[in-house]
Amino acid sequence: MGIAASPVLNPTAETPGGVGKKLTADALSRRSRQRRQMQGMIGASYVVDAIILLVYAHAGTTSATIGPAFAICGLLSVTGYVALSEAGITERFRDHYLVVPQSIVSMIIMLAFTYIAPEVGAMFLCTLFVVFAFSSLRATPWQTAVVWTAMALGLAGLFLLTDKPISLPHQTYLERFVTMTVFILTIGRCMFIGIFSSAMRDSLYKSGLALKEANKRIEELAELDDLTGSFNRRRIMRFLDDEIARAQRVDAPCSIALIDLDWFKRINDTYGHPIGDEVLRTFAITVFANIRAVDRFGRYGGEEFLLLLPDTPRETAARMLDRLREIIADLDWSAFSPGMRVTVSAGVASLNPNETADSFLARADSALYKAKAQGRDRIASA
Ligand code: GH3
Ligand code: MG
Ligand code: MG
Repeated sequence: MGIAASPVLNPTAETPGGVGKKLTADALSRRSRQRRQMQGMIGASYVVDAIILLVYAHAGTTSATIGPAFAICGLLSVTGYVALSEAGITERFRDHYLVVPQSIVSMIIMLAFTYIAPEVGAMFLCTLFVVFAFSSLRATPWQTAVVWTAMALGLAGLFLLTDKPISLPHQTYLERFVTMTVFILTIGRCMFIGIFSSAMRDSLYKSGLALKEANKRIEELAELDDLTGSFNRRRIMRFLDDEIARAQRVDAPCSIALIDLDWFKRINDTYGHPIGDEVLRTFAITVFANIRAVDRFGRYGGEEFLLLLPDTPRETAARMLDRLREIIADLDWSAFSPGMRVTVSAGVASLNPNETADSFLARADSALYKAKAQGRDRIASA
């Protein structure tokens, strides 16, 4: 009888539900290989049971034809399933392992052999545990209910509608030994299924964690500007709204600075756009290296950036910005191109009571305009 092999239980190995989903040729061949492996395990299981039946026959418990007949029935069911699988027919079903039909076929074989050879009936009935444990691994609750009902009806028919003397062979030493082996194997198979079920849970848990990480990374990337790694405009504006709300709630100071690179068009024209990009990147890295962990820095547009300084009064903000301006002006830009100089201008503003983001930004922008008008490479306050 059948126990599932590892691939059946490997949740990462496939996408459940073949119906209506386009699977790549790779995925299809992987699924087909998994089904072959699983059927191989089930077939091997039938052969092991047939050997046990032959030992029973040797002990004189049952007829010598029962073992081979059992193997033939089991292997025929396996071959039938493999043929359906290889023809791609099983792929048409959401459950491409066909757990319910397979479990019911296994059950019919077990019940039929219990009827035919009741003198070794306990062995076939033991195997029902394995069938049920296996089917409940992949089955939905509804499918489990169907398999269980079929099993209950089959057992009722066998026990109540017939008077077969279903036995647990234990008369001779050999019989006792074989029956013991049947129990040990049954428990072993159930444990095997249990181990894989916990491996499946473990693997699902791990892929859940990996997915969470990947989603977090996607979210982070969706908030960043590709070129500079600073927050994109959408994100920095959200930070600004949140910070304004927080500052107004707790009555804390809050400052912003709009920073714009001076004569940047000229830098692009003189050294080329790719060098311009490098300058923007270096500028952003320099800012990141010189701001506090609570500060937020994002690209407002083109070569203009917004720096958000929570809990910072205007004078402190202006001092911080002036220090930043000086650091940027003092960088050795000639590494990009001999003689290159890069400076920035910034407009600093501090939040007024009940002020909106628009008016806050407009004041920072006019301060920036003032800094540009006064000759650039300077900070102006609103
Ligand atoms: P000002 O001192 O008045 O700010 O002069 P400016 O030349 O910096 O101002 P302007 O706004 O005229 O030019 C901005 C330039 O920035 C124009 C645009 O091509 C360039 N720019 C915007 N985004 C990028 C970018 O991502 N990469 C590069 N290389 N250049 C950019
Ligand atoms: Mg500029
Ligand atoms: Mg500009």
